[in-house]
Amino acid sequence: MSRPPRHLADLELAERRRAVAELGEREFRADQLSRHYFGRYTDSPADMTDLPATVRSALAGQLLPRLLISEREQTCDNGATRKMLWRLHDGALVESVLMKYPDRVTMCVSSQAGCGMGCPFCATGQAGLTRNLSTAEIVAQVVAGQRALQASNPTGPSNPNSALAHARVSNIVFMGMGEPLANYRNVVAAVRRLTDPVPSGLGISQRSVTVSTVGLVPAIGRLAAEGLSVTLAVSLHAPDDEGRDELVPVNRRWKVAEVLAAAWDYAAVTGRRVSIEYALIKDVNDQPWRADLLGSLLAGHLAHVNLIPLNPTPGSKWTASRPGVQEEFVRRVVAHGVPVTVRDTRGREIDGACGQLAATVTGRSVGPARRVRGAVPAGLGRTARLDTNAPGVTPPPSTVSLPFA
Ligand code: SAH
Ligand code: SF4
Repeated sequence: MSRPPRHLADLELAERRRAVAELGEREFRADQLSRHYFGRYTDSPADMTDLPATVRSALAGQLLPRLLISEREQTCDNGATRKMLWRLHDGALVESVLMKYPDRVTMCVSSQAGCGMGCPFCATGQAGLTRNLSTAEIVAQVVAGQRALQASNPTGPSNPNSALAHARVSNIVFMGMGEPLANYRNVVAAVRRLTDPVPSGLGISQRSVTVSTVGLVPAIGRLAAEGLSVTLAVSLHAPDDEGRDELVPVNRRWKVAEVLAAAWDYAAVTGRRVSIEYALIKDVNDQPWRADLLGSLLAGHLAHVNLIPLNPTPGSKWTASRPGVQEEFVRRVVAHGVPVTVRDTRGREIDGACGQLAATVTGRSVGPARRVRGAVPAGLGRTARLDTNAPGVTPPPSTVSLPFA
């Protein structure tokens, strides 16, 4: 494990100006570099024609080191889903996924290489934590997504004939590898960099950013106090402590009631509806009584449920619930007046579950995971989120969305 090289995106604009001055250049060069990186998504000196050639390469060499080396890329869904596997400067692997929809483009980013939380159904959780990503390594995933989007849509958004309504990444979900709130400082700085206007940042709306957490209660409280308007997603996966202790081991530290109390505080402070993530696993957490309990815990709160059919990885014995069971689960939760959406299975054919592509490359096997009480052993893998809307309704399979991960 070693520190990634310093990058422009690690720094606030004022810090960038100081860094440029320390390199013997005028401070406004920091703004020029920032416009290239955050406004035009380029770090190539050749593109920076407003800077003298010698200055360009000196500054780019110092402040725009290449952080992500493409290791593998896969597309599916007719090109609408593109999964990218990156090798970092120290060899660590992380994944991100770009998902195009008619009305938006969502980028699912990783916040850590690996994850230390050990959820038994998750591919990333099986390998443990390698290290936190730097702020710039997180931002660079989105910049790479923007570039990929531009490359696939060279005519640009101004072309009225362009097939793509959105030629820019409009939504970010922290649902790739890692637990974002376990890398709190770099993730919050990345959120600011992603959402500050150009040239400070990429200018994406805070409301279009979702931070998904396994339920680190103190960090949820801290996030609520940041003054950000990002959506919080809480990975609940079971409404009872017995079930959640097994599916989400960190529940042994912070129980369901504490996690939900933190979520409601977050909703009260930010006014943002909290997303409750629930990976539905056959015969593990899909019983009618769990649906009823989930509905009663969430009723009357600013929340909706995102059901994720489990995305099993090869060798996994856990599997997604049968359609009829899933429908009944949804019906029971909705009966409590709680909106439910179901994610689609986008990206599955490309090792869609997060951690799976990395597992393919490293040859590491994922699984078998621990046995959950009263259940069949484990499946792994992951799903990135997708926000289908329509409160209280489960969209038909053709329109529900779920990605990678
Ligand atoms: N660590 C954070 C964010 C990354 S995980 C968290 O756990 O919330 C993003 C989402 O994918 C979480 O809701 C996670 O529980 C879910 N997930 C992980 N593995 C999955 C799998 N095999 N099938 C379905 N969802 C999965
Ligand atoms: Fe980590 Fe989230 Fe996977 Fe759990 S589900 S192991 S918290 S990435």
